Amino acid sequence: MPLTVHQFPCLSDNYAYLVRDDASGKVATIDTPDAEAIIREAENLGWNVDLVLNTHWHPDHAGGNAALKERFACELVGPAEVKEHFPLDRIVGDGDQVTLGTVRFDVLDTGGHTLGHICYYAPEEATIFVGDTLFPLGCGRVFEGTPQQMWASLSRLAALPPETVAWSAHEYTLANGRFAVTVDSSPALAERMRQIEATRARGEPTVPTTIGEERRTNPFFRAPELSNETDPALAFAEIRAAKDNFKG
Ligand code: ZN
Ligand code: FE
Repeated sequence: MPLTVHQFPCLSDNYAYLVRDDASGKVATIDTPDAEAIIREAENLGWNVDLVLNTHWHPDHAGGNAALKERFACELVGPAEVKEHFPLDRIVGDGDQVTLGTVRFDVLDTGGHTLGHICYYAPEEATIFVGDTLFPLGCGRVFEGTPQQMWASLSRLAALPPETVAWSAHEYTLANGRFAVTVDSSPALAERMRQIEATRARGEPTVPTTIGEERRTNPFFRAPELSNETDPALAFAEIRAAKDNFKG
């Protein structure tokens, strides 16, 4: 695996990522939740940031673009929507490729949380950065798109190889799990919840996850099996609305 992923928490519940192609030494940061923390971490590692890859426009994902650019003169890459709020050098969309040294990322449109949300998928590395589209046992709130759009986005992610490692932008897993067990009584989910509680009790991250694990236990991936709705997108909409109204 020529890709080293350095993950660290910042803000209240975000994860920041410094990602290095070991073959070339090139470094990307996935989103810019907290420029100060990312700069400090990169300096501690002795890494120079070459590339910023934004998943969507929200301030906890692109708010640090200007400061990162100022410090590293890095290239800012992201969906067009970022440019309406924060600096951006290069607009990418579905089907585009971004290279980090020897590693190729495919851009996947996963709109729904925001209209232009994208994910960065490195098929050769079996790695995807999913921003606020997918979380362990959860998915992003549908702020700008429709449930149909979000369901299509989640379905694209669900179709990736099960061993694909998915890195989310927040640590929301305990809260997601508390909701999940109210709509899914499967032993697989109950067992996973026990593991998650133990992981968090040790203060360790529950991110990353894998596509296969989410297919097994994520109630949003499993919406058609958990709902009486026959239309999968409506089943998803029902579970999403239940989570939005859930007072854990
Ligand atoms: Zn967001
Ligand atoms: Fe976020």
